[in-house]
Amino acid sequence: MVKRLILILGDQLSPEMSCLSDGPEAGDVVVMAEVADEGTYVPHHPQKITLILSAMRKFADQLRDAGWEVAYTTLDDPDNAGSICGELLRRAEEFETDQVVLTEPGEWRLIDALNDLPLHVEMRQDTRFLASHAEFERWAEGRKSLRMEYFYREMRRKTGLLMDGDDPCGGQWNFDQDNRKPARGDLFKLGPCRFEPDDTVRAVMDLVTDRFDGHFGTVDGFAYATDRDQALQVLDHFIKNALPCFGDYQDAMLADDPVLYHALISPYLNIGLLGWREVCAAAETAYRDGDAPLNAVEGFIRQIIGWREYIRGIYFLKGRDYTAQNTLNHTRDLPAVYWGGDSGMACMRAAVGQTRDLAYAHHIQRLMVTGNFALLAGIDPAQVHEWYLSVYIDAFEWVEAPNTIGMSQFADGGIVASKPYVSSGSYIDRMSDYCGDCAYKVGDKTGKEACPFNVLYWHFLNRHRDRFQGNGRMGMMYRTWDKMDAGKRDAIISDAETVLERLDRGDPV
Ligand SMILES: Cc1cc2nc3c(=O)[nH]c(=O)nc-3n(C[C@H](O)[C@H](O)[C@H](O)COP(=O)(O)OP(=O)(O)OC[C@H]3O[C@@H](n4cnc5c(N)ncnc54)[C@H](O)[C@@H]3O)c2cc1C
Ligand code: SF4
Repeated sequence: MVKRLILILGDQLSPEMSCLSDGPEAGDVVVMAEVADEGTYVPHHPQKITLILSAMRKFADQLRDAGWEVAYTTLDDPDNAGSICGELLRRAEEFETDQVVLTEPGEWRLIDALNDLPLHVEMRQDTRFLASHAEFERWAEGRKSLRMEYFYREMRRKTGLLMDGDDPCGGQWNFDQDNRKPARGDLFKLGPCRFEPDDTVRAVMDLVTDRFDGHFGTVDGFAYATDRDQALQVLDHFIKNALPCFGDYQDAMLADDPVLYHALISPYLNIGLLGWREVCAAAETAYRDGDAPLNAVEGFIRQIIGWREYIRGIYFLKGRDYTAQNTLNHTRDLPAVYWGGDSGMACMRAAVGQTRDLAYAHHIQRLMVTGNFALLAGIDPAQVHEWYLSVYIDAFEWVEAPNTIGMSQFADGGIVASKPYVSSGSYIDRMSDYCGDCAYKVGDKTGKEACPFNVLYWHFLNRHRDRFQGNGRMGMMYRTWDKMDAGKRDAIISDAETVLERLDRGDPV
């Protein structure tokens, strides 16, 4: 019988992948390849490449132990064709077959490239997710607006998670009003789990340093989990130590505590080392056993079966052109501060600095610091999208793009977000300890030392007035602006223009 090639991609490292469902007995060969193209189509962070290649090598061993024949190509193999498609064609010739089975990749770029191959490609659904494309399409059909909250309630009913019969536990679907406490200097300092690199990881770190020199960040300090056992330890650490406070301090930011009470499980969920079911079950058990409060557990489960699934649904529903959307016509180039360039802004330095060191920033740092600044400053959303896709350990287009293009940059015109996520410096000051260490004064609304967020915030609202003043959730902001003394308004706009001119000249802000 003709062998089939079973393609496993670097973010498909689970024995439950649909493409593996026929089992090793069928006599097929699993193809796995470390290829330069996947590390460079955007300049991925060296720690992200290290995570993926290390986890691939370990998963290949796991498959061999389970009886699979695995054709594995390392990055430094002289025969390496350099791309996924090239490797498949090479293996097709080697094994004298034109039959390929794979699970749908998480980005259109690869889906299209694989479908265009001169091979017989069977692309199966990715069953690691709670909602299939068809289910999301059914939910979305005929709705005027696609708000996450309503989708989330359906997922709660579907899974029975945090349900008491037909009703949500605690009588409410969402406990967000109990969350969002500001940061305090004496918060949690336990930190996430760290794993000393073993021989496999060290070999990959050397290879990545050699091959991807010049990418933002280094492999130094790499301490991520790279196999399922380690990923389970991360989950356990989070559930025991951080989940109880996850809700309260979800939006807090501290300069010397990059992770706070966040789970840091997105890299493992996204590459297949953890699954949504076990993660949500562990959180629900903590609640039912009285080890974590409902506001924390509900908030956490909402991120997984609500936001994560919804975001994926939007990516596939909206199709290939989604990443090119630019509703607000923002065209400014991404400033050098995003790549570690000089800046007086302590919040940007902190968010970018930890991104460089860890390839990680938590949601509020991504949304309300780097994302907020890009939106206020009118940066081209395609460049913002490329930056987020490049620098984060958990970045895969299906999850990164709707978060960036939709939630953070409002470039999709309000599909994901009902209003733009913009704020002045006072929000960052309330939720963080950054402002004390800043060259700017968060209390100054105008003048040389005024926080750039303060002046850019009003500039943004003013320049997009036609679009947003009719938005019920933004009316109060426009009323505040209109009540301001005309001289003050002029000063704010002029100070904001000065900041934007500096950005345009490439001067640090
Ligand atoms: C501009 C921007 C870009 C982002 N890019 C990515 C990305 O490339 N990959 C990625 O996984 N997440 C992305 N997110 C969502 C979110 O910031 C990360 O999932 C989260 O910070 C991961 O860290 P954590 O595991 O500590 O999360 P926690 O705060 O502990 O949350 C638990 C889990 O919930 C899920 N989750 C939470 N929020 C979201 C969300 N908005 N969308 C999807 N899943 C969510 C994640 O799987 C996460 O691991 C982005 C958010 C923004 C605003
Ligand atoms: S003053 Fe403004 S720029 Fe400085 S840290 Fe605070 S919010 Fe950021």
